[in-house]
Amino acid sequence: SSPVSRTAQASQLFENFVQASTCKGTLQAFSILCRQLELDPLDHSNFYNSLKAAVSTWKVKALWTKLDKRAQQKVYSQNKACQGTRCLIIGGGPCGLRTAIELTLLGCKVVVIEKRDTFSRNNVLHLWPYTIHDLRGLGAKKFYGKFCAGSIDHISIRQLQLMLVKVSLILGVEIHVNVEFIKLLEPPEEQTDVGHGWRAEIRPSGHPVSDFEFDVVIGADGRRSTLDGFRRKEFRGKLAIAITANFVNRNTTAEAKVEEISGVAFIFNQKFFLELKEDTGIDLENIVYYKDNTHYFVMTAKKQSLLDKGVIINDYMETERLLSPDNVNQEALLSYAREAADFGTNYQLPSLDYAINHYGQPDVAMFDFTCMYASENAALIREKHGHQLLVALVGDSLLEPFWPMGTGCARGFLAAFDTAWMVKGWAKGKSPLEILAERESIYRLLPQTTPENISKNFEQYSIDPATRYPNLNASCVRPHQVSPVLFLSVESEVHPGRLLNWCQRQTHGYQGVDVTNLASSWRNGLALCALIHRQKPELIDYDSLNEEDVAGNNQLAFDVAEREFGIQPVTTGKEMAADSQPDKLLMVLYLSKFYEAFRNSPA
Ligand code: FAD
Repeated sequence: SSPVSRTAQASQLFENFVQASTCKGTLQAFSILCRQLELDPLDHSNFYNSLKAAVSTWKVKALWTKLDKRAQQKVYSQNKACQGTRCLIIGGGPCGLRTAIELTLLGCKVVVIEKRDTFSRNNVLHLWPYTIHDLRGLGAKKFYGKFCAGSIDHISIRQLQLMLVKVSLILGVEIHVNVEFIKLLEPPEEQTDVGHGWRAEIRPSGHPVSDFEFDVVIGADGRRSTLDGFRRKEFRGKLAIAITANFVNRNTTAEAKVEEISGVAFIFNQKFFLELKEDTGIDLENIVYYKDNTHYFVMTAKKQSLLDKGVIINDYMETERLLSPDNVNQEALLSYAREAADFGTNYQLPSLDYAINHYGQPDVAMFDFTCMYASENAALIREKHGHQLLVALVGDSLLEPFWPMGTGCARGFLAAFDTAWMVKGWAKGKSPLEILAERESIYRLLPQTTPENISKNFEQYSIDPATRYPNLNASCVRPHQVSPVLFLSVESEVHPGRLLNWCQRQTHGYQGVDVTNLASSWRNGLALCALIHRQKPELIDYDSLNEEDVAGNNQLAFDVAEREFGIQPVTTGKEMAADSQPDKLLMVLYLSKFYEAFRNSPA
């Protein structure tokens, strides 16, 4: 074909890709585009430039200009900052994909696995001003013409995923749908044909991604991450039941006139909620309404009114049982949410027909926000047979958002940038403890971030945290304060058998001590105190110890060992007392330090 028709064809294929409106459709259009234009999507470092060269009509120029501007940020060192670093991202939600984009811009090889093959969440995310600016910079308007038109500051989850998938693919990210992460596979001791680095066990098992070896793994798999090693903090508040509802938006003039209800504004409007209760019996703590692809409502309802209106059938103490499907009258729930939506919009929406959800049902759902979770730490490092693996969490896996306040995507993106910054440091060869200490310092800011207290200079935003957090102290956690659980060298230098043997000899003859293992034998703290007493009797008055005082004995040992021998505690006395037995991995780690410090001493 002639060069002119080739150009026209390329442009049309690209347009099909840009306009694709489903996840599968997008991946299909992309694969046709690559095939027809003879582009190799696996050649991640050259893909973007090859695509740009192949599709060069004026229509796409504006998109290339935007993406070039982003890619030329100094922090990426011309796509070479992380050359050779391989990353696996678990989950193709907004935060996994946003992280993928940053990592590929840094020059990493990035593979995203997503267990589903449809983007079906109608629910709508609130965007902070910086996220709008950020997404515009990635060409959001090109992919979704209605993106944040006028004063609108929200987007449906599926539109956001769709847009981010497209940007990711353009920039050379490899995306696999219908692929589920099961667990990490440690590198084998000897190099074999299948390779020698960290890999993942996935479903389906024969999938090529199971051969992918990586240096970084990112958990972006939503509320309950499947990655091991992260302790979760629970924020238990008062009972909070949220209801989301989506109604069909026919985009009529009448619908266009109805005013939205923004998240924060309404919480304080007592009069509204009193009237709602008087007129309808519906008792809410707040309500949000966004006009998007659907008419989207999210509200927090009081339990008593749900019981009174027959939505919840029986009253139970445990929320799980309370909201279990067989205790919810679906018809009553549909009416409840519709009535609240109708009242909230002053009966101005002409027809409130439910949109259809993923399961082909009217799109209404009830969620329990009584317990919210956050991971205690944002990252850790594993080491096995000389292979280090950086493990990080982003998005809901890191910090669960309370939907009615709409913090999920905004804080999720901040964490995506912070994580990319950490990967850059990792690739530059910073020491593991420095990396973890910096990441933890930055993570401490995240739960407090608001649109008001982050930098307003969006133009300057990059993955460098200093461009975003005005009061950043990136070294508030010092490397020596990093908890040893976060730098998990799976192969302790001492063989556990030898360690146990040594501990037994050291503690032999002490009253109340009988070391038979590296976990439960240490719970009451006496063995630890004995270990110290054997080295320096003057540090601990062993005979005064009380076997029952688990917290006290352990804390004493931890404090003395830290002060006198510089051995960092791995937990606290209180936690030792709270658990039925200490974590074996932690104990091995901790006792190895004693072994290293004292094995050559005469005692
Ligand atoms: P998610 O968007 O949850 O994405 C995680 C992805 O990982 C999913 O696509 C999932 O399929 C995939 N995944 C999970 N496990 C695996 C695995 N083992 N292997 C491979 N892939 C895996 N926020 C609001 O502000 N308002 C709302 O109304 C609202 N409604 C929501 C409704 C639902 C049903 C859910 C799940 C979330 C909702 N959220 C809502 C939260 C919001 O979607 C997230 O805050 C936002 O999408 C950013 O999350 P994320 O990317 O971290 O995770």
